[in-house]
Formats: sequence, C-alpha cells, structure tokens
Amino acid sequence: MPYDQYETVIGLEVHVQLSSKSKAFCGDSTVFGSDPNTQVSPISLGHPGTLPFVNEEQIMYAVKLGTALGCEINTHSSFDRKNYFYADLPKGYQITQDRSPICIGGNLQVKLGDNYKSFRIHHIHMEEDAGKSIHETGSPYSLIDLNRAGVPLLEIVTEPDMRSAEEVDAFMTGMRRLVRWLGVSDGNMEQGSMRCDVNVSVRLKGATEYGTRCEIKNVNSMRYAKRAIAYEVKRQIDLLEQGIAIEQQTLNFDPDSGQTTPIRDKEDAHDYRYFPEPDLPPVKLTNEYIRAVKDQMGKLPWELYQDFTEHLDLSDYDASLLTEDVRVAKYFLGLQHLSQQTKSAANLIINKIIPYCKDQNLEIFDFPVSSENLVKFIDLIRTGKVSSAIAYQRIFPALIENPDIEPLSLAEKMNLIQSSDHSFLEDLIEEVMASNPDKVKAYKNGKKGLLGFFMGELMKKSKGKADPKLANKLIRDKLEGK
Ligand code: ADP
Ligand code: MG
Repeated sequence: MPYDQYETVIGLEVHVQLSSKSKAFCGDSTVFGSDPNTQVSPISLGHPGTLPFVNEEQIMYAVKLGTALGCEINTHSSFDRKNYFYADLPKGYQITQDRSPICIGGNLQVKLGDNYKSFRIHHIHMEEDAGKSIHETGSPYSLIDLNRAGVPLLEIVTEPDMRSAEEVDAFMTGMRRLVRWLGVSDGNMEQGSMRCDVNVSVRLKGATEYGTRCEIKNVNSMRYAKRAIAYEVKRQIDLLEQGIAIEQQTLNFDPDSGQTTPIRDKEDAHDYRYFPEPDLPPVKLTNEYIRAVKDQMGKLPWELYQDFTEHLDLSDYDASLLTEDVRVAKYFLGLQHLSQQTKSAANLIINKIIPYCKDQNLEIFDFPVSSENLVKFIDLIRTGKVSSAIAYQRIFPALIENPDIEPLSLAEKMNLIQSSDHSFLEDLIEEVMASNPDKVKAYKNGKKGLLGFFMGELMKKSKGKADPKLANKLIRDKLEGK
C-alpha cells in the first residue's frame, strides 16, 4: 500500500476567544448567545472617524498564556492591519499582529498514551474576531451577525510538529485544559471559543523536506478535525501517487460530504496588504509587569500533576483526573490538607463528588457537604466505625440529603455503625452455621474456599455492619472448632 510509505505533517493555528468581558478595541460586550447585532457600536462597526483602543485584559491573557507555555514575551510588540473584503468584516481589515507578535517560541507538552511529546509553538499573537455570516440553505441572501466582530482573540501558531490526527486531538485537549486553567478562555469548541486552522501535508517517510501544505479553515470540533485530516491525507497521497504536485490551497471541510473543497482566495497572503495599524500605539511591557503576571499565576496543571504523583504518591490516573480542572485541583488540595488523608480524599472526590457535581451541573465548590463534614466522613471509615462499602453506598447519599448533620450521628441514626461486638457476631455466625450444615461439613473436610461464602452470609445477616477483619477471624475460629 502506498499510504504506508507516507508520513503526515500537521501544524495548527489555534484561535482562542478570551474571557474578557469587552471587545478587543472597544467596550462592546462579548457575551455569547445574545440577539444578533445587539453588541455593536460605531467602533466595532468600523464607522469613519472612530478610534480603537487597546484592551489591557487581552494583553494580560497573552502574557499569562505565553508565560505558561514558556514563550519569550516580547516587551515591544505592535498591531498591523490585515486587509480583505468580506461581509462579516465591517472595517474592511482585521487588526492583528504580523511583524512583532507578543509571544515568541515556547512549547506544550502533551501526554500520548504512556509517553509525552512536546509540540513547539512558533508564536502567539493578539487579534480580533470577525462577525458571523449565516448562509441558510435555499435562501437567496446571507445574514450577518456582527456581535462577534472585534471579540479579542489569541492565535497560537504551532510549528509543523504533529504527525497524526491523534496528536492534533491531544494537543488541542491539552491547550483547552491550559486556557481554562488560566482563566484565559472557556475553551468551548461547540460555541466557537476555540477553533483551529489545520495545515496538512504529506511526505515520503524519511524525507527531510516538508511537502506542500493545504490549510483547512475553521475546524470547530475534534471529530471533524479527524475526518478532515483523514480525507485530506488520502487526497494528497492519491495525487502524489499519480505524479500530480500538491497545490497550496485554503480548504473548507464539509462535515456532510466528509470532503475538503477549496474556498475563496481571500486568504492568499500576498493579497492582505499588511501594514502597521496607525490608530494604535505599540504595546510596551516592563519586566516588572511580566514578572507580576507570572507571580499571580499559581501552579500549572503539569506542575501539580508532578506534585501529586511524586510527593503525594497518587496514581497516574488519580493525578490526571485531579489536574483536569483548576477548581477540582484546589478543592482536592483543601480536603487533603484538612483531612491529612490523601488517598481517601482523592477517592471521595473522584468517585463521588465529581460524578455528583457533573450530574447536578454544579461547580465543585458548590458541593453541598462542607469540607469539615467530609473530613468527618473520611474519619468514619479510617477509624473502622463503618466499612468503606457501607459508607460510600449508604451514608454518603444520606449526607448529601442532610449536609449539616454530623456523619457519625447519621451513621448511628441509620444503625450502620460497624459491629465489633464479639458475642453479637458469634451469635450470628452460629445462626449461619446452623442453617448450612453441609457447607460446614465440606469446610471441615478441607474446602477452605467456603470461607468467603460464610463471610457473605454473615455480612447479609449483620446488614453489612460486621467488622470484616474481626468477622473473618471469628468465623475461622468457629469452623475450626477453636
Ligand atoms: P505562513 O507564514 O505562510 O502563514 P507559516 O510557515 O507561518 O505560514 O505556517 C503556518 C502554519 O502552517 C503553521 O501552523 C505551520 O506549523 C504550518 N505549516 C507550515 N509548513 C507546513 C507543512 N509543510 N505541512 C504542514 N503544516 C505546515
Ligand atoms: Mg490568523
């Protein structure tokens, strides 16, 4: 198969809409989902005589993301105009950074199966979003919504370091976690807060030069990205195998047909007529400012992951889950600190609290039971008052219903305190033995595996309250006639 002889090469241009409440160069709101054309003003509509101004928040987010990615922060960057004519671009140009972007270099390390791979960042620049064109099928005209025009963006341009759709997926997932962690963006791909242009080329394995690339525009779901890449890779290899050179093109992916098709040629770089934006001053940053942003940033997800696995001895699985989201990580650290029970705190959060909050659509910090009561709940298990199975299955749901009641009182009220009362357990064991004489005989004849059966029966009879360690010993003693 010729396909096996080729290697896929991919580089991304990731657009991230910032969490900033106002647009990049004016005060219009950026809230998603409002009625069309209600978040516009003379500046975002590009009326003559209006002047843009710089949004400090956009700069702060750029410095934050750049610092997290290990970029060099440019203390002197500037804006440029990228000119093109399109209905969703009211000014007739986009304000972007072409000659001197705010962040240079850097990389994002991502987990791929059991390994890590580092993807280099070429640069990050600040720009503004365009409006949205709505083409309804069968309609003789298009609709334009300019609410999005001027929404602040960061564009992260990677080096062509990815070699498969899986790597693209892993990179985007890692980037989404990071922008959410930092509060830079909600990273919501369905709402278009994070989208990417996917540059794809192929080359024979072992070749040193890259092949000619095609750029698939505006991919807003990883599922589409995978399909688009698969289609594009096959298309390019088929052409090369026929001896036809790849033409550098800008493409659209149509999810319905599963195909990529060339789009209008506005993207041709030489047509943009970039020139310095005359209405905005350059962005000058002091080293003190850059350091202050860094100091406020707190630990990054991979730093906490390392802490959790190396210093707290958590498994890779637990540490990954607990560093998915900054609030979950903080919540865990709080409970861990308060309870001094690392593994129990992790288990409780992963197995009970996260699923409950997901189900109820709650933020983890809005979980109804206080950390103090959760610590008492953990202690109930630790001190052997309740078995962990009973605690998780019976007491925890009751605690959610009665978050202010002490877990111990709850367990007492529910009559679930584990019994380590010898005579109580011995009576029950005798009952179990009396109703199963054949099993007792079999055990005495050497079928030691029946111990589990007797334990099970005892647990049923005691309604789960038997302290398993003690029960185990007592059953054995009784069966062996000690
Ligand atoms: P331009 O300056 O023409 O816009 P760049 O060289 O800056 O292009 O690259 C833009 C994007 O395309 C980057 O994400 C880069 O990684 C990617 N890219 C560049 N060359 C290739 C290639 N041969 N195959 C795949 N992706 C590429
Ligand atoms: Mg761009």
